[in-house]
Amino acid sequence: MGYIDAHTHITFKEAINEGILNFAIKEWGAPIDKILMTVEQVVRMLDDASIDYVGVMAFPVRKLSGAKEDYALKVINTVKEYPDRFAVIGGVEVNEVTTEETKYWLEKQYEAGISALKIHPPHWWVKPNAYRPEEGGLKQLELVYQFAEDHNLPVYIHTGTSSFTKARNKYGDPILVDDVAVDFPKLTIIMAHIGRPNWVPTAFQLIRIRPNIYGDLSSIPPKRILEYIPRLTEISDKLIYGSDYPGPGVHDIKKNLQDFLQTPIPNETKTKITTETPRKILKPLSKTK
Ligand SMILES: [Zn+2]
Repeated sequence: MGYIDAHTHITFKEAINEGILNFAIKEWGAPIDKILMTVEQVVRMLDDASIDYVGVMAFPVRKLSGAKEDYALKVINTVKEYPDRFAVIGGVEVNEVTTEETKYWLEKQYEAGISALKIHPPHWWVKPNAYRPEEGGLKQLELVYQFAEDHNLPVYIHTGTSSFTKARNKYGDPILVDDVAVDFPKLTIIMAHIGRPNWVPTAFQLIRIRPNIYGDLSSIPPKRILEYIPRLTEISDKLIYGSDYPGPGVHDIKKNLQDFLQTPIPNETKTKITTETPRKILKPLSKTK
């Protein structure tokens, strides 16, 4: 049995559009041959890295790309011949669409077989708890969390900074996720990036005390993992591995994983993070359909 990389931004030649292509080149500095791989090429890359399946971020980019179609649906359609190898992470840009549209896209994506949903506060300029009355009462966001809780879909919430030119990093503070954990106690929350670099202690503490908050280690340089999270083993049951490939600075999915596997943390902990826990909380397409 191989490993699981629960957080990637793998793009496919078959599903990409101009907006995403330009974004990936400009904002990630990703080499074009890595962005335009066919699904077969991606599967061979995963085989070579001993990765069983990957989480592919396919949350909406209608505004960014100008595309009318739903990106998550397009990605699911692209990977459908390999349902064991991909978990597709969808979502709805809650501050751009109506409550009716929110329901419509959630249903569509769920029927198609998404594995999780994603919220990107710094890119959307939306607080993770913006559904709260005292935070503006954004109904669409409440619908997303409620839908996810009702349908057993985990929700990734980006925490920490983003270097994207238009990002507003004040929205990256993990403390804002605490409300979500309290208001939706049956929802599985995955705090992407564990608030790195400057909010790691906040994220660590919330993962420790809230049973429904997990953390993904994506985009933390694997060799520096203990520098970022010195008490990592205390939350070893609540962490999942992710690379963020081919996002900023991560241009080799296999090397990133190998670097992680060589860090001086107990083997048992590494097994939990790279296989056991992700298998429990993130199902590939074959298990959601
Ligand atoms: Zn990411």
